[in-house]
Amino acid sequence: MIELAASYVAGKWVTSTAATTVEVASPTTGEVLGTVGIAGDDEVSAAVAAARSALPAWAQTSPAERGAALGRLADVLTARKGELADLATAEIGSPRSWSTFGQVITATGVLRAYAAITPDHPFTTSRPSMTGGVVDVRQVPVGVVGAIVPWNTPLFIAALKLGPALAAGCTVVLKPSPDAPLTFGVLMEAIEEAGIPDGVVNVVNGGAATGELLTEHPDVDKISFTGSTAVGARIAASCGSRIRRCSTELGGKSAAIVLPDAPLEKTVAGLVGGVMGNNGQLCAALTRILLPRSRYHEYLTVLIAAVTALTVGDPADRSTDIGPLINKAARDKVEGLLRRARDEGATVLTGGERPDRPGWFVTPALVEATNDMEIAREEVFGPVVVVIAYDDISEAVSIANDSRYGLVGAVWSADEEHAATVAAQLQAGSIAVNSTAVLDFGSPFGGFKQSGIGREGGPEGITGFVEYQAIIR
Ligand code: NAD
Repeated sequence: MIELAASYVAGKWVTSTAATTVEVASPTTGEVLGTVGIAGDDEVSAAVAAARSALPAWAQTSPAERGAALGRLADVLTARKGELADLATAEIGSPRSWSTFGQVITATGVLRAYAAITPDHPFTTSRPSMTGGVVDVRQVPVGVVGAIVPWNTPLFIAALKLGPALAAGCTVVLKPSPDAPLTFGVLMEAIEEAGIPDGVVNVVNGGAATGELLTEHPDVDKISFTGSTAVGARIAASCGSRIRRCSTELGGKSAAIVLPDAPLEKTVAGLVGGVMGNNGQLCAALTRILLPRSRYHEYLTVLIAAVTALTVGDPADRSTDIGPLINKAARDKVEGLLRRARDEGATVLTGGERPDRPGWFVTPALVEATNDMEIAREEVFGPVVVVIAYDDISEAVSIANDSRYGLVGAVWSADEEHAATVAAQLQAGSIAVNSTAVLDFGSPFGGFKQSGIGREGGPEGITGFVEYQAIIR
């Protein structure tokens, strides 16, 4: 049993008698894995105050020192990667065969990228002024950042915020999701072991109410939010009314375009592995597979076989491909979307059943649909993939772009150059060619359209955590 207090402030977990406590349950067995306190007004204010008081000293450290600190943090987390992957598998249900990479190496990869980028980032540049003098353009830290994290890949998303925020010289108050807070106990130990000063990274645990307290706190300078589009819209509106800086990484309904010359077996193996990662609970999952009508049935046969062959079971078993969904509400949502898809005329080609076992399982599903159906338009956030036929490449591009989302995409072809040309026509933040690797650790990540505003990752990520200041002399 892990017991986490409501908040971690200036280097210490703080147990408050006023804070309520909730249980964290295994989505596989229902077993209680731990408890977590819920931060209220006092805990949030104390965490923000600690971040404010640590800000001047941290902002004055050199970029080289901040980069080195991020490198040490990556080292400590790497040394504990097995333990962290086990925790993610227990509380989220991520298959253990996936969680070392998906939940931990993604986080350490981002931190290492920032360790490399930060020392040479151009925090001050000079240019000639229009009147013959000089202008120094400085990038100064935006200040205290409230970083709100979802449950599906908590350590990775925390790293995607900590990396650029700490690189920029900001201090942070993290708010994990109450559905998956347990890895943050290890993360705070790692922050301490890496020698990151007390108060630079703080935590407030809790759900929507705690998130609202953080979003509305008068001494927070920026909110960096990752989660659903509905909550992101509320947070952006609240920040807008306060002229508070805000970036949002939101949902997706991303498309993978399979061009007619794509090699069948390799394409299907790559697609199914990527799309079903974390039991389909990934913002960047390629949940619409667009197939050329000329090869539609050939592809469908192989796709159905590949999805049906996935092993559903205990996520701790390393032969398992698909574990449970995070909770009952998630399973109800997935089942409801599949039911309405059938009502609308879609065909569930395989899966979508409840296996006879405890836990919030749905078997991986492949659904034949058209792009106007709800199942092709709404984020399912479960092991459900839609296949859609297209006649020519321009139609494939327009189907891919016919979505309110624009997070990622993929194009598969025997001709990589041609695939890259098609990729450039997609309205999405990152697009993989011949793979499902839509994230590069040293490059910007974020969405077009309702998938969010702003980028985290890479040098571009740092610019979201600074103010530009021009000194004209
Ligand atoms: P969610 O929006 O329900 O919650 C996200 C976080 O916001 C949680 O910590 C939650 O407690 C908090 N929160 C909820 N209501 C709030 C409010 N009113 N004010 C402040 N904070 C509030 O999302 P979720 O279910 O935790 O995560 C799944 C969603 O996250 C999916 O839509 C997925 O696509 C998205 N996601 C996006 C990315 C990305 O990088 N674009 C990455 C991972 C997940």
